[in-house]
Amino acid sequence: MPHAIIARTHPPPAGCRHPAGLLLNFHPVNALLGLFSHDIGIDLGTANTLVLVKGRGIVIDEPSVVAVDRLSKKVLAVGTEAKRMVGRTPANIVAVRPLKDGVISDFDTTEQMLHYFINKVHESYSFMVPRPRVVIGIPSGVTEVERRAIEEAALNAGAREAYPVEEPMAAAIGAGLPVMEPCGSMVVDIGGGTTEVAIISLGGVVVSTSLRIAGDEVDLDIIAYARQSHNLMIGERTAEEIKITAGSAYPLPEERAVVIRGRDLVTGLPKTVTVSTVEIRDAISGSIGAIINAVRTTIEMTPPELITDLMENGIALTGGGALLAGLDRRLSRETHFRCWVAEDPLSCVVRGTGEMLQESRLLRRVMAQRQQRKPPKIAYR
Ligand code: ADP
Ligand code: MG
Repeated sequence: MPHAIIARTHPPPAGCRHPAGLLLNFHPVNALLGLFSHDIGIDLGTANTLVLVKGRGIVIDEPSVVAVDRLSKKVLAVGTEAKRMVGRTPANIVAVRPLKDGVISDFDTTEQMLHYFINKVHESYSFMVPRPRVVIGIPSGVTEVERRAIEEAALNAGAREAYPVEEPMAAAIGAGLPVMEPCGSMVVDIGGGTTEVAIISLGGVVVSTSLRIAGDEVDLDIIAYARQSHNLMIGERTAEEIKITAGSAYPLPEERAVVIRGRDLVTGLPKTVTVSTVEIRDAISGSIGAIINAVRTTIEMTPPELITDLMENGIALTGGGALLAGLDRRLSRETHFRCWVAEDPLSCVVRGTGEMLQESRLLRRVMAQRQQRKPPKIAYR
């Protein structure tokens, strides 16, 4: 029962940090329960949370948003329902994204969100089914204390065993990279709040960088551009839509005109302006440049043997930000490595957690390596 070897239902005592120490936690009852339970993989992203049930595939894909009553601090809605409430409710209701910057800004809310998603899946089964094992992909910038808190939160929410794993590792597995091989693989995961860059070999992260600039920052660039260049006020959702439909990081085969609707800052009345995709590309170039720099810095820190491997395998791009038009070409040009967008980049992390549930050897190696590694380099613009 290999997966039971790393069973850990409480934060390990200080003396139990070595991977071999995990053997002490072998639990035959847990091993038996594992044969019947519906194990769950979770991508606790800064923008979206995805949940996968082993053998059933992805069952939840909702925004990482919680609607909270400002006065009583009570949680009113989670996920899609919470996002729908944004901007349509009385002023006392606020929408919170507890992991917005890749760190946990509000632990209670994060815990309630996790509780909601785990229960939503668990409740769809009969009472006879044992509690699930849960593998959770979390941003790599999360501190050790926060990581343990997430583990506790998952256990409180009904998990039998909880394994927080770093998102870039899960993303690399989901992208199909040979993470267990003695050869270097590189993944760039561009989410909403963070960009995580990691070089992986033998089931462990060798070098990594975490940057607090990703999709959200690109949206803010577009808002700032509309205000400064056209006296036009637009909201975050409009900005995101413009990014998805007209944003790019490399010259497009055919540049085109884009209509932006918003409110005139001077008159306060509705206004429409037409801009070109070239202008949008210029507007977001600062954030894209920061992402490229983070990739280049990580490459500079990589041992030379692994660089040779990367020349062969290239760099995999995952996360929603990987879908920005021309980002793969731009990164290829700037790094001189072949950069390619993974299949269905938005679901790589959750599919990676699913692989870890299927293959206990993989999960065991990832958990053991994780305990010995240095935290990521935090990059700034
Ligand atoms: P996280 O893992 O942080 O939750 P995701 O991987 O779910 O983030 O990606 C969300 C980000 O991807 C958002 O900023 C969203 O705007 C962006 N995104 C989604 N689709 C596209 C697209 N087609 N082009 C550019 N950006 C996109
Ligand atoms: Mg992510």
